[in-house]
Amino acid sequence: MKLKIAVLPGDGIGPEVVKQAIKVIKTIEKKYGHKIELLEGIVGGEAIDKYGDPLPDETWKLCEESDAILLGAVGGPKWDNLPGEKRPEKALLKLRGGFNLFANIRPIKVFEKLSFSSTIKPEVLKGVDFVIVRELTGGLYFGKPKEIRVENGEEMAIDTMTYKASEIKRIAHVAFKMAQKRNKKVTSVDKANILECSRLWRKIVDEVSKEYMDVNLEHMYVDNCAMQIVRNPKQFDVILTENTFGDILSDEAAVITGSIGMLPSASLGEGTKGLYEPIHGTAPDIAGKNIANPLATILSVAMMFRYSFDLEKEAKDIENAVDKVIDSGYFTQDLFTGNPYAKQLVSTEEMGDLVCKIIEGGA
Ligand code: NAD
Repeated sequence: MKLKIAVLPGDGIGPEVVKQAIKVIKTIEKKYGHKIELLEGIVGGEAIDKYGDPLPDETWKLCEESDAILLGAVGGPKWDNLPGEKRPEKALLKLRGGFNLFANIRPIKVFEKLSFSSTIKPEVLKGVDFVIVRELTGGLYFGKPKEIRVENGEEMAIDTMTYKASEIKRIAHVAFKMAQKRNKKVTSVDKANILECSRLWRKIVDEVSKEYMDVNLEHMYVDNCAMQIVRNPKQFDVILTENTFGDILSDEAAVITGSIGMLPSASLGEGTKGLYEPIHGTAPDIAGKNIANPLATILSVAMMFRYSFDLEKEAKDIENAVDKVIDSGYFTQDLFTGNPYAKQLVSTEEMGDLVCKIIEGGA
């Protein structure tokens, strides 16, 4: 298969973890005889420094030409004081909004040997395997007006939360379809006791659910869901939620997996083009030290093969290799300390090499 991937490493640990993901892509290319072109582009803080724009036109064009986009992470203290429009994170919103990538898929899976790296008791975590389907192009992050203004001599800030029925409908279909392939349960998360957006959300989700009679639907308030994720995460199969709630809940769920360095994500639209990125940020505290965990980015590549290229075998091959590395007790720093299964501390580079070696069949 001939494929084009836009590769945007970004800032901080972004380039370090993306480098490992590229090794994995090349290993898969060779093993399965694909022809994969990697088009590297500049994004985030680095792009601000060079072009004064977090997503320069040439990077946008490169993404337009590609079948899928792989992104590391953007941002860092150096750019923290820039105005909203000029900040590195604006590049993410532009990519998601520009390509209409409205569905963010975040699998939360517990690797048994990592359950000791989590702050939650291992017996609570055993067998946890759910997916968060987060609406990504609506709600509070995109609603207008969005500004800071002065009224009666005092500064005030406004963010606006809006949702159209069509936006809720299309993301609900994504969640129900996903549940059909899994354990047939959708938990729709909202704040319908307070927010009008949530009341519409609940009504539309109920309507959509009638097309999926084989899927069991439950509604849950977001505050309760935040508690249930750490109290009894096994109850979930597919969590469907809006933009802001999904952002917060998926970071909370990261605790379950033992490290934020283990969580991949895919952002999808109506077509096959998708944006694939780890859910973590640029980790300025560990950047440049070759200690970051690259597995979230590598697992994001597996999602790319599954969702954008429809190459399930290749996706599974990558996921199995990650399973095997974890099973053998080779851990990066974030997973190593305090884990009784930890055998060998490995660097970012070494972790990338180990995954490739297993894919090649050499380990
Ligand atoms: P962060 O995810 O970068 O880091 C949080 C903690 O997790 C840190 O202690 C870090 O060392 C650790 N961590 C993160 N990824 C890791 C990995 N792969 N391996 C090992 N440890 C890892 O979140 P933050 O500190 O809140 O944000 C730092 C910067 O990243 C900010 O500028 C923020 O805006 C940006 N950010 C970007 C994205 C993105 O590009 N999608 C997402 C979140 C944050």
